[in-house]
Amino acid sequence: MNTTPRFQEETARSQPVASTLVSLQNVSKTFANGTIALRDMSLDIAQGDFVSLLGPSGCGKSTALRIIAGLGDASAGEVMWPSSARTGEDTSNGAGTNQDISFVFQEPTLMPWASVFSNVYLPLRLKGLSKQAARDDVMGALEMVGLEGFAKSYPRELSGGMKMRVSIARALVTKPKLLLMDEPFAALDEITRFKLNNDLLHLWEAFGWTVIFVTHSVFESVYLSNRIIVMAARPGRVVEDIPIDAPYPREEEFRTSDTYNDFCRRASQALHGAMEVSEPA
Ligand code: ADP
Repeated sequence: MNTTPRFQEETARSQPVASTLVSLQNVSKTFANGTIALRDMSLDIAQGDFVSLLGPSGCGKSTALRIIAGLGDASAGEVMWPSSARTGEDTSNGAGTNQDISFVFQEPTLMPWASVFSNVYLPLRLKGLSKQAARDDVMGALEMVGLEGFAKSYPRELSGGMKMRVSIARALVTKPKLLLMDEPFAALDEITRFKLNNDLLHLWEAFGWTVIFVTHSVFESVYLSNRIIVMAARPGRVVEDIPIDAPYPREEEFRTSDTYNDFCRRASQALHGAMEVSEPA
């Protein structure tokens, strides 16, 4: 299949930069009931970025993530994958790149009847790998999230934080280039959330994936990201793009630093601004 001419046509129009992993170009989404979940969203995500989508409920964060994942279609606009096009893959709406994308939801969504090992093995099983062939990758993913000793446990035996770790291991077992996370830690207590924030950052620094992280927590978005996209609701749209120019590794002392507080103030003001221009639900 020759997709090059179409890609050239698209790049001629939009010219995404060389390191762009995914580019949303004037993406809009209107649901059948008339809700405009996104209007004219344009955003380039660079390879290796940790980007947070921050905004009030209903501003289209999850819709944007689902469209990037190829789980939903845009009503208008384009999602482009410039780097995969260089290897000759299909670039339309993530098709051909889906196997490089993993999604982590707010709920761990584990199979209660299956062991931790089997839960993490699932994406590889769906790809046709035998348990034996997948064993090293599954154990490697469990090791990454600190659960290598729990392979034989069942979800009911685990805390909320541990279940989320299993969910993250299941996302990592396919070695994705892009990790999409939709409020993954929102249901966890603060101490567990801080711990998972730190562990996620360590993994991101070690493995260099690109992460798009949905949250409505200013503090979490500043702590984790190198860039925050602030969105407003009804219609869902981007209102600010804030670079968080603080060095990594970020550890606990970053949470109490003046730099962190300054960025939190800035992001908080942007979020309040976004809420003021959001139509009431
Ligand atoms: P967020 O993740 O920022 O809370 P969503 O992307 O979930 O926002 O939703 C954006 C808007 O689209 C909201 O008004 C929501 O009610 C609406 N919406 C989401 N999914 C659907 C759907 N399947 N049908 C109709 N409206 C939807």
